[in-house]
Amino acid sequence: DLVIRGLDAHYGATPVLSGLDLHVESGATVGLIGPSGSGKSTILRTILGLLPPSRGEIVLDGRRVDYAKPAEVRALRERVAVVFQQYNLFQNMTVLQNVCITPVKIRGRPRREVEDEARRLLAKVGLADKLSSYPDQLSGGQQQRVAIARALALRPEILLLDEVTAALDPELVSEVLDTIRLLAREGMTMMIVSHEMGFIREVSSRVVFMADGRKVEEGPPARIFDAPQEARTQSFVSKIL
Ligand code: ATP
Ligand code: MG
Repeated sequence: DLVIRGLDAHYGATPVLSGLDLHVESGATVGLIGPSGSGKSTILRTILGLLPPSRGEIVLDGRRVDYAKPAEVRALRERVAVVFQQYNLFQNMTVLQNVCITPVKIRGRPRREVEDEARRLLAKVGLADKLSSYPDQLSGGQQQRVAIARALALRPEILLLDEVTAALDPELVSEVLDTIRLLAREGMTMMIVSHEMGFIREVSSRVVFMADGRKVEEGPPARIFDAPQEARTQSFVSKIL
């Protein structure tokens, strides 16, 4: 599991996260919601060590991550994978190559084994017939599913998803959500940032509402969406319904 305690983060002198406590239990799907600029992406960036915490700690399976040590950050990134809105596939590589490259080249796993696994993952995300296609031959939704398969090929313990459907045409959103739904059912540990409130409500075991760099409220989806306790949450959910 992943535990965040008393986390502060700054961009330069500007505080963006304040006193954040967050827990992603093994097998849980934590939905992270909140207004634009509330710090959702910053949490993911901080977990990955792209923005070092200025206070507090991030604890992975009981061990505090020391972000001053590059080896620890590398080790963390082997265990926590992230998929962003921009899928950033390698344009000059096929779908299968995109999924295999990091496990083979960086992790040094046997190519045969990685390719077998990549084929399984690509079948799971509904792309069994696209192994030899190049990214520019795929729709946005298909490319995003390749990006998810690529993240899964790293065998992460935790998957972080940041607005993975935000750049997609509406008719392509549901195929990506289906993939995430499947992962949630299989017990993949995930933190999902999304503006797709219906989906967050359906898929999350717990929902965290953020505003102004702070956690305002968290709880089961039904409580956050139907009976929020805090005025800030009430105002947010009343606007999206
Ligand atoms: P959105 O829903 O629009 O994606 P968010 O909740 O993900 O919003 P963040 O991207 O985490 O919000 O941004 C939190 C705050 O940090 C915002 O006020 C933003 O302007 C600021 N911020 C983000 N990135 C940077 C940066 N590179 N330099 C300075 N400030 C930044
Ligand atoms: Mg964001």
